[in-house]
Amino acid sequence: MELKSKTPTGPIEQRWDNHRFNIKLVNPANKRKYSVIIVGSGLAGASASATMAELGYNVKCFCFQDSPRRAHSIAAQGGINAAKNYQNDGDSVYRLFYDTVKGGDFRSRESNVYRLAQISVNIIDQCVAQGVPFAREYGGLLANRSFGGAQVSRTFYARGQTGQQLLLGAYQALLRQVAGGKVQMFPRTEMLDLIVIDGKARGIVARNLITGKIESHLADAVVLGTGGYGNVFYLSTNAKGSNCTAIWRAYKRGAAMANPCYTQIHPTCIPVSGEYQSKLTLMSESLRNDGRIWVPKKKGDTRSPEQIPEDERDYYLERKYPSFGNLVPRDVASRNAKSACDEGRGVGEQGLGVYLDFSDAIKRLGKQSIRERYGNLFDMYERITGDNPYNVPMRIYPAIHYTMGGLWVDYNLMTTIPGLFAVGEANFSDHGANRLGASALMQGLADGYFILPYTIGDYLANTKLEKADASNPAAREAEKGVNEVTRRLLEIRGKRTVTSFHRELGKLVWDDCGMARTEAGLKKALQRVPELRDEFWKNVNVLGGGEELNQALENAGRVADFLEFGELMCLDALQRNESCGGHFREEFQTPEGEALRDDDNYSYVAAWEYGGPGKPPILNKEPLTFEYVHPSQRSYK
Ligand SMILES: Cc1cc2nc3c(=O)[nH]c(=O)nc-3n(C[C@H](O)[C@H](O)[C@H](O)COP(=O)(O)OP(=O)(O)OC[C@H]3O[C@@H](n4cnc5c(N)ncnc54)[C@H](O)[C@@H]3O)c2cc1C
Repeated sequence: MELKSKTPTGPIEQRWDNHRFNIKLVNPANKRKYSVIIVGSGLAGASASATMAELGYNVKCFCFQDSPRRAHSIAAQGGINAAKNYQNDGDSVYRLFYDTVKGGDFRSRESNVYRLAQISVNIIDQCVAQGVPFAREYGGLLANRSFGGAQVSRTFYARGQTGQQLLLGAYQALLRQVAGGKVQMFPRTEMLDLIVIDGKARGIVARNLITGKIESHLADAVVLGTGGYGNVFYLSTNAKGSNCTAIWRAYKRGAAMANPCYTQIHPTCIPVSGEYQSKLTLMSESLRNDGRIWVPKKKGDTRSPEQIPEDERDYYLERKYPSFGNLVPRDVASRNAKSACDEGRGVGEQGLGVYLDFSDAIKRLGKQSIRERYGNLFDMYERITGDNPYNVPMRIYPAIHYTMGGLWVDYNLMTTIPGLFAVGEANFSDHGANRLGASALMQGLADGYFILPYTIGDYLANTKLEKADASNPAAREAEKGVNEVTRRLLEIRGKRTVTSFHRELGKLVWDDCGMARTEAGLKKALQRVPELRDEFWKNVNVLGGGEELNQALENAGRVADFLEFGELMCLDALQRNESCGGHFREEFQTPEGEALRDDDNYSYVAAWEYGGPGKPPILNKEPLTFEYVHPSQRSYK
């Protein structure tokens, strides 16, 4: 497989402009002759659908929820970055670019990251124009707060519900196009395979989740904006429905999967409370602006927080990282919380928690200011734990949150299958080995509003496409495969629930490919995951039928894919003999316990190619070069 990144050269500030000038355009009158399938209606999919339709393309947009506005993006809390420098605190496009490359531990493409930083300013303008109610300062300008890994305030927010407000903006733009007849919306419809004709992506096979009907949809190009795969870990902060099926099935049709082992651990989640929990709740990173993180200095100190005097508390992030303090990036904050708990200084019943304490901020700013900034997050915390964070510190612990890996895409966001594009969290794109906070929303919207609509035109203008409809043999073959998998799943009638398999897989990958990984643990997981998968196909119990609403069947298909995906993730982690960002191999660390990269040998994107049924995947490498931000040991001290 040849990985052509199509990354432009020349001064980095001009690369995107020059690229846009050089790529081919589709004449406005010709756009209406093309049709595009967009799977996903989250921030990436909805913004892409609305923009493509606005340009004149005919769009079919799919999602498995009952409404596009229920996509997982709605959960995003803290904010979205943009290099506006309203604060005059020294921000610039270059600084956002610099912070993001460094924050990603030098495992992202410089050209992509620069483009993202450039576009960030347009995103804010577009969203404000759509009516997104960002917080404002007394003078009327948009307010900002800080997120980890940055020393400037560049995060725009709408209380603790930024994702919801941004999605409402994109959703309204999408519905305007639905009303205008340019977007046909298919809610409650799940893509189960990709149709490839003459080597090009031409459509999808989807199941109507209400009637169970399997149908093919054909188009001139296909875009996947299907989100991340964090739920491979079973417990995560992701919406329960988030899954890897769309990208996994595209992988099996020839799209390379990049850096699957790069998953982000978020340091501020509500700790796990029991064996049968099915979901973890995030407490936004924005809370670290005012909350101070600490654990008791003494091991096994079970006193309640107010009984522990100031000089017996260890504000370990402030102590170890004086310049970034509580706002170190997520991987650093997570690892340090884990170390404190491993040392026996964790708090809460299971000792797997650290305090996030607002008492100083409340004293300094007053309860009302804190309520205005984070009120809904505090209410949510109280509803879940029964503790009132205005009176006692929150207890938090790291959890799986975001996946930096995904389908490999070139600078045009096209995968290794011509005509198949991936946007948002579904692609591996811009975050390297660790995503800085508030940059996923930025990337999803940059892809959907400002990048894909140009680059897809280049593909369409340069490609000769034969007419194709659902009677095409490739569509028939894909439909047959989907029906066959459904039949197999329903016929097993074994003894274990889908959830029990998912939970076991999740624990395996969390223990051996989660916050910390070792060669021995990964090898153990690589042996156990295939055994678990074999058992799944012999002993899973999926009740009901195929031609009806059957959520057990939907779930079974997704877990079957996680059982394959989990193996690739461990394989990827095993081949990378270094630590970087969220991928922390315990064998490779500095004496202070920080991630120890090996730039000479691992400065590449690992792009895995499907080897065929029963055959091992093939590792391809896209070398990464750094002309502007020179790789160095990350330091937040
Ligand atoms: C709790 C939480 C808080 C967060 N807070 C922030 C934040 O403050 N700032 C920030 O930058 N990021 C944040 N993130 C990350 C960010 O929300 C996500 O990365 C981003 O919203 C992903 O958007 P997306 O459009 O790529 O995917 P999603 O929003 O996940 O959308 C996926 C879409 O694809 C559809 N889909 C998936 N598979 C199929 C299929 N097979 N067939 C049909 N449709 C399919 C779904 O129906 C959905 O419409 C947060 C994440 C979480 C979990």
